[in-house]
Amino acid sequence: MTHAPRRIALVAHDNKKVELLTWAEFNLGTLREHELFATGTTGTMLEYELGLPVHRFLSGPLGGDQQIGAKIAEGLIDLLVFFWDPLEPQPHDPDVKALLRLAAVWNVPVASNLATADMIISSPLLAGDYVPARPEHDRPATGKAEFPRAA
Ligand code: PGA
Repeated sequence: MTHAPRRIALVAHDNKKVELLTWAEFNLGTLREHELFATGTTGTMLEYELGLPVHRFLSGPLGGDQQIGAKIAEGLIDLLVFFWDPLEPQPHDPDVKALLRLAAVWNVPVASNLATADMIISSPLLAGDYVPARPEHDRPATGKAEFPRAA
């Protein structure tokens, strides 16, 4: 690997967890080279089943998707592997949509299914020096968000 570790966020809805786990196991060597983040249950599964070190957020339905979305907005996530379930309604559907939206806003690559995850994880761009463009709306004067002061 020539590039610094990428910060990869992993999320899987319940019906997709086995699929993600199987994918992660197959790609264990590659994933170990990167810094991993995940929603609560997905992260626990990756840690205990595969021994991968993972920064765990809250469970998705309890705010974990939003926490990952916030990290994306801050420029702290390089890749989102999000196996969402297209066949079952989720109680936190607005959060799911918000997470996918923020990834699109900030030009963060998203793998929503196995084939895309396979292609991204094996891409030379992931291991190389490729730096995705950060959209223009990330250029406040100070580089930090500024909040209006109370009068
Ligand atoms: P979980 O959350 O990893 O805590 O199950 C995933 C989700 O439903 O977004």
